Amino acid sequence: MHPRRALLRRLAGAETPRLPPWTADDFSDRCTRCGDCVRTCPEQVLRLGDGGFPQLDLTHAGCSLCGACADSCDAGLFDRAQPAFPWRARIGERCLALAGIHCRACEDSCEARAIRFRPQLGGPPLPQLDSLACTGCGACLAPCPSQAIQLSEEMTADA
Ligand code: SF4
Ligand code: SF4
Ligand code: SF4
Repeated sequence: MHPRRALLRRLAGAETPRLPPWTADDFSDRCTRCGDCVRTCPEQVLRLGDGGFPQLDLTHAGCSLCGACADSCDAGLFDRAQPAFPWRARIGERCLALAGIHCRACEDSCEARAIRFRPQLGGPPLPQLDSLACTGCGACLAPCPSQAIQLSEEMTADA
């Protein structure tokens, strides 16, 4: 998205759309809106959004980092030498396990094994998120019954 449009969206309180993996901030300046990456995504986590530009939608699934979108882009906008995403997952206060309710729904969704559960005396195991191992794929978001997991770019500063 153009920086000015992103600023206007932020001022209007709208959430900035997430870019496809391995793309840079100037993506919408160079994207031809052909939609090839959207059609090729096996997880259906890419869709045509604002202005007809592809954007990432992690509402129902995560990105498997398969690379099909990058391979399909004739404009060469995907740089797989870079990290796929600028954000990492963070488990917030709404986590059921932190409230004493047994829940490990996020654990199996994480192929990177970045979410581990630590036993504790007198309560359910607690999740611990390894932000160095996290790829930012977003696969843990949809399975969480309390929407406790967010993706934050602040976390990448620690990585
Ligand atoms: S890497 Fe694969 S799953 Fe992820 S957005 Fe691209 S095509 Fe979809
Ligand atoms: S799925 Fe959500 S509520 Fe359950 S342990 Fe993981 S972060 Fe907590
Ligand atoms: S976003 Fe991070 S913690 Fe969540 S499933 Fe992907 S790698 Fe695992």
